[in-house]
Amino acid sequence: MGPRLVQRPGPAASLVLRGVRVLDPPAGIDEVRDLVVREGCIGGSPEGLEEIDAAGLVAVPGFVDPHVHLRTPGREDLEDIATGSLAAAAGGFVTIVAMPNTSPVVDTASVLQSLLERGEQEAVVRVGFLAAITRGQSGAELTEQVELAEAGAAGFSDDGHPVADANVMRRALQYQRITGLPLVLHEEDPDLSGEGVMHEGGVATRLGLGGIPSISESVAVARDAALAEYEGGRIHICHVSAAETAEEIRRAKERGVRITAEVTPHHLALNDDAVESLDPTRHKMNPPLREESDREALIAALEDGTLDCIATDHAPHAADEKDVPFEEAPFGVTGLETAFAACHTHLVRTGRMSLELLVRRMGADAAAALGLPAPTLADGAVADVALLDLDERAVVGDEGFQSRSRNSAFLGEELVGRVRLTIAGGQIAWRL
Ligand SMILES: [Zn+2]
Ligand SMILES: [Zn+2]
Repeated sequence: MGPRLVQRPGPAASLVLRGVRVLDPPAGIDEVRDLVVREGCIGGSPEGLEEIDAAGLVAVPGFVDPHVHLRTPGREDLEDIATGSLAAAAGGFVTIVAMPNTSPVVDTASVLQSLLERGEQEAVVRVGFLAAITRGQSGAELTEQVELAEAGAAGFSDDGHPVADANVMRRALQYQRITGLPLVLHEEDPDLSGEGVMHEGGVATRLGLGGIPSISESVAVARDAALAEYEGGRIHICHVSAAETAEEIRRAKERGVRITAEVTPHHLALNDDAVESLDPTRHKMNPPLREESDREALIAALEDGTLDCIATDHAPHAADEKDVPFEEAPFGVTGLETAFAACHTHLVRTGRMSLELLVRRMGADAAAALGLPAPTLADGAVADVALLDLDERAVVGDEGFQSRSRNSAFLGEELVGRVRLTIAGGQIAWRL
């Protein structure tokens, strides 16, 4: 029993990055030197290896994304494991974990098994799969969680839908203590969200659009933190968007609840003013972009560890699905390829966060939130490396996307910071 991560077999990377800044904050490494990758592992002799001039570049442990949608099975026209994992590699990610809200839903061991087999053939970075908490994600009957755990599920989530019934959540927490795998929660009170399509606030009023109040998220987190405390279970909160929610998580951590949480690059970089842009459906996601004061609170909470890590909630949609009136468009934006550059541009270059902390929150802390092994640049480790150019500027979308979809919230924006090379699980997964 334990989470299975799968990757396509391929040749082991062997190369030396000359004169690179090697930055691995959890390992206490920050120095300019050569970084050797030999036979897919860190370290060894540089003799005879391909040399890459990496002066001025930064090598960090590859990133981990605990929350992506690969649309497989069922909507391979939007994304599949090959394109989604290549988008991840282009963003410097070496491990990603996919949500089970597919068609069919990943709610049986046989669906999970077939996904793991496809991952072994197609994934250029490591991929893990969450299974559903309830059958068909209908919120009623629990899935066979022990059987799914034995088949290699990385955890359980009904993402896309909240688990509205508190007693179902309570029983899921009782199973959580048996499987040891995280319960990954999309937190929303469906009655409070109603027919809302964006954050309930001044912009929604101005545009005449239905609002999703911040308390829709925070009351759901308060309930589940209380249930987790009562049952001694462990929960991970998806895509925190509101100041009130960060406060609930802070209080829960203070009293010892086993709770972790993630925040997306778009909630850290943007606010609901973006919905007044010329192309508003690019900024329609659930939970919605909230106010500037929320964005500020999320950054502070990520900094002090109330929010543990960054997750993209990469959610591919077709252009024609999004090219409709705001109310009718689906929720969701892509994010794997822009995550580092967006956070580097909006957090590090603005002086809000150090590069060291960003690297932790996108790497070791993201792995820890789901109980996965953390990538490291320590000698002897399997090579999981992202090579970053912190000065390179690129307009999002100008060079296309590796993802099969292009519904990015940052489309057309110039971001600073580029991933030049990704080595995942000892294999070259991306090279610019
Ligand atoms: Zn969600
Ligand atoms: Zn999601």
